Amino acid sequence: MGEKQIEFPVQITVRDLAQRTQASPIQVIKILMSNGVMANINQMVDFDTAAIVASELGFEAVPESAKDITAVEEQGEIPLWRKLIMDEDPSKLINRPAVVTILGHVDHGKTTLLDAIRHTNVASGEAGGITQHIGAYQVMQKGRLITFLDTPGHAAFTAMRARGAQGADIVILVVAADDGVMPQTREAIAHAKAARVPIIVALNKIDKADANPDFVKHQLAENGLVPDEWDGNTIVVPVSAKQKKGLEDILEAILLVSDSLDIRANPEGKVIGTVIEAQVDKARGVIATLLVQNGTLQTGDTVLTGETCGKIRAMFDFNGKKIKSAGPSTPVQVLGLASVPPAGEIFQVVPNEKEARAILAERQAQKAAAPAVAGKATLEQLFEKFQAGEVRELPLIVKVDVQGSLEPIINSLNDLSKGEIKINVIHAETGNISENDIMLATASKAIVLGFNVSADQAARNLAEQEGVSIRLYDIIYRLLEDIEKALKGMLEPETREVQVGQAQVRAVFKINKVGTIAGCRVIQGEVRRNTRIRLIRNGTALFDGEIASLKHEKDDVKEVRQGFECGISLKGYNDISEGDLLESYIIEKLG
Ligand code: GDP
Repeated sequence: MGEKQIEFPVQITVRDLAQRTQASPIQVIKILMSNGVMANINQMVDFDTAAIVASELGFEAVPESAKDITAVEEQGEIPLWRKLIMDEDPSKLINRPAVVTILGHVDHGKTTLLDAIRHTNVASGEAGGITQHIGAYQVMQKGRLITFLDTPGHAAFTAMRARGAQGADIVILVVAADDGVMPQTREAIAHAKAARVPIIVALNKIDKADANPDFVKHQLAENGLVPDEWDGNTIVVPVSAKQKKGLEDILEAILLVSDSLDIRANPEGKVIGTVIEAQVDKARGVIATLLVQNGTLQTGDTVLTGETCGKIRAMFDFNGKKIKSAGPSTPVQVLGLASVPPAGEIFQVVPNEKEARAILAERQAQKAAAPAVAGKATLEQLFEKFQAGEVRELPLIVKVDVQGSLEPIINSLNDLSKGEIKINVIHAETGNISENDIMLATASKAIVLGFNVSADQAARNLAEQEGVSIRLYDIIYRLLEDIEKALKGMLEPETREVQVGQAQVRAVFKINKVGTIAGCRVIQGEVRRNTRIRLIRNGTALFDGEIASLKHEKDDVKEVRQGFECGISLKGYNDISEGDLLESYIIEKLG
């Protein structure tokens, strides 16, 4: 036909599809719509759908080889499994079981669903017997295995992503049909989308009298998950976890979605995977649940993960049965690690303990040398990365006080997306900034913007630890201005106020031509001549400026320490009263 050929992977985002066909995302979305597919810019479409769009734009789509897949995805997050198989010989790759995780709002039935699937379909082990929880299990459906991660909730999922691991291949989003889309449902959608993991909706509790599936489907559509029965591409499966109804359909849906993904691994390749959970057992030492993602893990292998390593003394499957080897997508419990690795950490097999220790020593040295927050997101760092061509997106998490502010802010932010760098609002919601938001930000290297909200203490602590930038605003245009400046690389470096000391005014002297002198005692830290100073009366700052003079007895001094008396005059300000507090502080530039 003479059409130009373009290579496509088995799945592609609308954004990438547009880029490769040199069309605008809107054009692509329109073509998709005219073919009955409702998709937003970040959504994935499969190869066949991409091929239809390509052909309407005058191209012929050809499948991409596994090795090439990664190269074109660079701007987005490359799922771990892709990174893993990227160096593997394509002819050795075989299908592996899909790894599924369950997310959703509290009390919508995640645990009940996991238990129901486990008891009805568990792959082996004594029927109806109580199997131990090791953080993951496998079920058999139509002769195919499916691996379920058994820790519901996005904290675990995001912890993995924050460490660079891929939480799962597929997310089951549990939404209670009597309660609908709730804040944590939206959070879960944001987490899954940020990780580019496809979502299947389990519409749970359909047995309840007040279940309203249609209403919930509308809500889902509003949140970008258009049900397939409405020609969207989200499979919505009605279930009752309690009555064990619809479980088969969920498993079928998982297989269906698995088939559209490139879920493969090389069982003979490099052994690598993720720590699901780990703890210390008094009798047996460190017990870790590992999910093998590539290669085959064997008893006797030396495993290296995070800051620990060890030789595998024994290995058990999720039924507690001793096994000697475990291939891709298999969860196993292992004994032999020297210390407890954090959940979500990536592990690998190395030739021997000597090599493991050498790698650990090198890692520790690198860690000591690297600045604490390297690789994390502040606006400035992001801009540098953008300039260096490392990122082309500014991922944002937006929290606002009321629903009414949400849309205008998001729209205005999206309007700033022009030129080469794009704004990507990965999550927007009402409410204060929480630990969850920071986790999502860490995992997605995003900035957190707050409008008329605050960040709770746990969120602040985590942000500090992870080096995530939280920016709070109470005026919309300042928020927009900052982001615009960031995009242009003009943003002032972030600053932080550091208190140097406080003095209390004990007496006030008015001296002709000189002005008011405050006779003070330094009650905390010290007062320094060249810092900024703030006058506080009854909790209100009345003056913020510079010190005109600082004297101890009769001498001009540079600083006066706690417990000493001094005379302070303020530049251009004389309204000082007994009892006022004077705060000496400096502004420190961050980053
Ligand atoms: P999670 O917080 O999402 O893990 O929710 P749980 O699995 O703990 O379930 C919360 C509550 O909803 C429990 O009381 C369950 O018994 C109930 N529940 C879960 N699934 C169903 C269902 O399909 N139908 C009904 N009627 N109740 C359910």
